Amino acid sequence: MFAITGPIGSGKSFVSSIIREAGFEVLDADALAHELYKKNSELQKKIAQEFGDEAIDENGINRKLVSNIVFSNPKKLELLESIVYPILLNEIEKINPVFVEAAVLYKCPEFAKRMKEIWVVEASEDLRKERLLGRGIEDGRVEAQRVESGELRVESFVRKVDNNGTKEECKSKVLELLVGLIPNIVFRDISLKKYTTFKIGGVARFFAEPETMEEIKILLAWCLEFKIPYFVLGKGSNVLFDDNGYKGLIIKLSKFNAANTLHSLIQNAANQGLGGLEKLEGIPGTIGGAIFMNAGAHGQQISDCIKSVTSIAANGEIITRTKKECEFSYRTSIFKKLSTLNSQLSTQTIISAEFNFTPMPKEVINKNRKEVLAWRKAKQPLQYPNAGSVFKNPNSQSAGYLIEKCGLKGFSIGDAQISELHANFIVNKGQATAKDVKALMEKIVQKVKEVHGVELEAEIIYPPSSPAPGPSSKI
Ligand SMILES: Cc1cc2nc3c(=O)[nH]c(=O)nc-3n(C[C@H](O)[C@H](O)[C@H](O)COP(=O)(O)OP(=O)(O)OC[C@H]3O[C@@H](n4cnc5c(N)ncnc54)[C@H](O)[C@@H]3O)c2cc1C
Repeated sequence: MFAITGPIGSGKSFVSSIIREAGFEVLDADALAHELYKKNSELQKKIAQEFGDEAIDENGINRKLVSNIVFSNPKKLELLESIVYPILLNEIEKINPVFVEAAVLYKCPEFAKRMKEIWVVEASEDLRKERLLGRGIEDGRVEAQRVESGELRVESFVRKVDNNGTKEECKSKVLELLVGLIPNIVFRDISLKKYTTFKIGGVARFFAEPETMEEIKILLAWCLEFKIPYFVLGKGSNVLFDDNGYKGLIIKLSKFNAANTLHSLIQNAANQGLGGLEKLEGIPGTIGGAIFMNAGAHGQQISDCIKSVTSIAANGEIITRTKKECEFSYRTSIFKKLSTLNSQLSTQTIISAEFNFTPMPKEVINKNRKEVLAWRKAKQPLQYPNAGSVFKNPNSQSAGYLIEKCGLKGFSIGDAQISELHANFIVNKGQATAKDVKALMEKIVQKVKEVHGVELEAEIIYPPSSPAPGPSSKI
């Protein structure tokens, strides 16, 4: 946990807002304390005992009355703190936030001990008074929360955030401090358009292309510590990113066995007279993406030849699963199932796989490859950006056929169009947005249900732009 603290008027809330905007969780301990005043009967009882029954009202605590008492009498302030802090600390510990903005908790050694770093926002007393008077708060509270040198009774690492200048100056100082908390292989605000075959999507808040296992581990540990949600990306040939991007970390794999293309896997196998996956030729994804999706075509699917798959979990644990343990079925796998669970702790990054191919004459393998490629060229709208089949085939029926029978071929919303060539493909005719594509998908689902009584299920993956907070460091 990191604390943002400092005396009243120093600008803690402003610093917190910069940290939040930068993508980190900040718990407002003051707001939490007020929640507790409202609902924690033990706390209410103790306050009533010391400050009288009138100190408790329907809002929890009678702020005006209690403030008047404690800010005119330091002993009473200490008394209030000694009642509130233990209960508040307990609650903060349960939540275990990344940052906690905590008014004067820094005076409490118990609190300080739990902090990895304490960021003390500093502003001169004159400036604080000026700011507080601007907010209609009188001088007394400035005096009560005076920070004399040496008053900070803590052993944790303390950083000072100088807020004596302009808001812009303060912001750049905070951002500088935050840079120190972000691994140096992580980039910010990267457009996702160029990382997907759909050429659609906003900006990734954080983006990294790890090249070694060590780097993956650093990223995962960072996500764990700072509760940053993450999404593993292959070639982006089955993903529709939101127009608002992704407010987490995109881990783009490119230097790992699982990041090699399906094409290179099939080619290498063919060179050695090994077949079994050659009909997947033309699927523009990576081995990892194909395993996650259990990609398939023309009666073959990647799981046919899988021997084992090795992945790394959010907590850094490396697991090798047998084919059976991968729980493959139509367009799904254990990896996909795990990724949809609430806790991101279960998300797996596939790093490598072992295959059992079938010895076959090279001519047969290459003939099959050529045939499926020619089929794709004739049947799929490859001249426009797309993400392959949008819907799964329901109960062995062709989703494309069902959509076509609804007369939807060529129907567009914005620049997103249901392909004239293949009704289960949506193509980006130029500036299509994720909103256009989703609206088109809704239209398809509704029409197919109406006409055929069949519920289509999306095959493409669309990560939410604001995913649930990342894995909690409390496992
Ligand atoms: C023109 C075209 C034709 C297509 N034809 C077919 C087809 O015939 N059959 C078919 O099944 N699909 C097809 N697809 C869809 C797509 O190519 C496949 O699903 C492919 O396997 C996705 O791989 P990818 O690397 O692009 O994964 P991405 O699109 O990057 O990711 C897809 C999902 O896999 C996850 N993922 C990717 N890599 C990893 C990893 N290393 N570890 C953990 N999770 C990972 C992602 O988080 C995401 O949820 C087609 C797509 C296009 C554009």
